[in-house]
Amino acid sequence: MTFTGPIYRPPWEADSLLLQVTVGCAHNKCNFCTMYRDTPFSIDPFEQIENDIIEARKQYRKVNRIFLVNGDAFVLSARRLKPIAEKIIEYFPEVEVITMYSSINNIKNKTDEELVELRKLRVNELWVGVETAHGEALKYLNKGSTIEDTRSQLKRLNKAGMDFFYGFMYGAAGKGRGIETAIENAKLINATNPVGIAPTTLGANEGTPLKKDVEKGIFELATEREIYEEMIKTIELIDTDDLIYYGAHAINTIPFNCILPRDKKIALNSIEGRIAELSNDFLDSVPVRHSI
Ligand code: SF4
Repeated sequence: MTFTGPIYRPPWEADSLLLQVTVGCAHNKCNFCTMYRDTPFSIDPFEQIENDIIEARKQYRKVNRIFLVNGDAFVLSARRLKPIAEKIIEYFPEVEVITMYSSINNIKNKTDEELVELRKLRVNELWVGVETAHGEALKYLNKGSTIEDTRSQLKRLNKAGMDFFYGFMYGAAGKGRGIETAIENAKLINATNPVGIAPTTLGANEGTPLKKDVEKGIFELATEREIYEEMIKTIELIDTDDLIYYGAHAINTIPFNCILPRDKKIALNSIEGRIAELSNDFLDSVPVRHSI
């Protein structure tokens, strides 16, 4: 199997077959991200992808789920993605879901018809890096999309019948803005009905523009207490059916998974319980986070 440079996948995809279709990230400009900073973006040749599919078939008797790497594999045009999905189905007819990371702009580069065609080819449950529904923060983080784009592109996925996970970061808007961010995220989640949400927490990594801004006092990171307040408010305001809350990411200091709204009370009680165990010094601090 071909793997080039760093490979990331959501923890949820631990049992999925990984198949490389791109290298790096086509955007590679988010101001907090170091994931593929030193890895130039490229598209893998179809022959290589086909050879990897054939090799994987020899090794695995049953594959339900395939995760296409790397950072924003949905950047591939429908023209490139369709033959990849067809080839996967030819060799793995049992496959149920072909998924990958996607940015909002990756959705934008496909027509409604193309989204439907890809969905028919089992492309589904995309991991969409929304990061935040707070418009000003989204611009600052340099995701390359606006909040209006975010809303309309997620609705296009709804229309195409393509499920998605909504990836976002607590603390994305910085100090003092957690509650307003929670309100905006919950509004967008409720309006677009993702299959799940995958929260992480913003950290200032060495070598990022964000880290420089933090050092210069241009951007102030949220304290741990504010992160928990944002988490509580987000969970309180979520009002969709059977939403997977996938927060068991190593970067979250209160990591847990649950189903909302079914487990809302248990989740809120356990967060409150955890907060009660922590010292004020810790709650009012900004712990160092090594993240994306
Ligand atoms: S956060 Fe995602 S889209 Fe942004 S630079 Fe990193 S890998 Fe690329």
